[in-house]
Amino acid sequence: MQRVYNFAAGPSALPLPVLEQVQKELLNWNGMGASVLEISHRSRQFTSVVEETIAMIKSLYQISDDYEVLFIQGGGHTQFAMVPLNLCAGQCGAYALNGVWSRKAFKEAQKIAQAKEATSVELRVPRQDEIDVSGASYFYYCSNETVNGIQYHYTPDVGIDMVCDMSSEFMSRPIDVNRYGLIFAGAQKNFGPAGVSIVIVRKDLLDKASSTVPSMLDYKTYAGSLSMYNTPPTFAIYVAHLVAKWLIDEGGVAEMERRSIIKSNLLYDIIDSSNGFYFNQVEKQSRSRMNVVFNLENKALEERFIQEAEAENLRYLKGHRILGGMRASIYNAVSIEAVEKLAEFMKKFATRYA
Ligand code: PMP
Repeated sequence: MQRVYNFAAGPSALPLPVLEQVQKELLNWNGMGASVLEISHRSRQFTSVVEETIAMIKSLYQISDDYEVLFIQGGGHTQFAMVPLNLCAGQCGAYALNGVWSRKAFKEAQKIAQAKEATSVELRVPRQDEIDVSGASYFYYCSNETVNGIQYHYTPDVGIDMVCDMSSEFMSRPIDVNRYGLIFAGAQKNFGPAGVSIVIVRKDLLDKASSTVPSMLDYKTYAGSLSMYNTPPTFAIYVAHLVAKWLIDEGGVAEMERRSIIKSNLLYDIIDSSNGFYFNQVEKQSRSRMNVVFNLENKALEERFIQEAEAENLRYLKGHRILGGMRASIYNAVSIEAVEKLAEFMKKFATRYA
């Protein structure tokens, strides 16, 4: 069986060695004579997986002991609610709006507390001097807008705690965690299957939630229990553990960044040199290295593009239903070779139909 070149936005490609290991040990994990799917989360073997995954995340991002690493269910959407529920006693956050996911998080926060708009821009990230955080307890932004293909290539410096949705760029480049109060990311793009989100939170923020916050929505509950107050998503955490190992073996986040620059440049170069056959409307300095969004000047050709790409095993290139067009998601597990194949196809297609 031939595996396809997978450009899905999430859930998305996982490293092949990870999938092979899952397959190999599915029936008999760790010599237990049972699957990892079938054993207690409180077994010594499974708690070791959780502890090791936390340790590997800490080592990959060089996270100090001032932070907790938590595993929480409910995806990014639950984080949109947990952030204001936990951090809006008194003042609430100021949100930078520049794409689908930051706007959705802002709407959710407004249901819960008096969240403010820090700035609102289109097709780019805001500049530092456009961000207004006055009267806010935290600044919230989404470092990579998955749908719009917009990514911050600088870390804002706003003088208050920063909360960042890194769902679609988690572990794809080095970051300085000390700059943040809280970082969250759904695993299903760069770090595993759907079902678990990773939250990195500075310990002093754990005491901010009021006593009326339900236990399952209170970060403290997770911090005090190795994320096992209730039954955690064991399979998703187990796969994330394998992905973390893979990341370390491959050279860590600096190496992921090096590859993502090569991969994204391959595609943007073709778009930019196609004389308008392909176009991307995002400001150049704000282009995403994870989600390359583009359209064809001749809209009528877009369906044909998708069909011909599929015939060459290049899959899941359709843009998000809100935007249409095309989107190539090129997360860590998407190889340079896969992106070269796509680049070659795009060149051929443009020559044929220009
Ligand atoms: N934030 C970002 C940046 C995303 O890309 C997504 C999902 N694509 C979400 C949040 C929402 O995540 P979930 O579907 O896991 O709730």
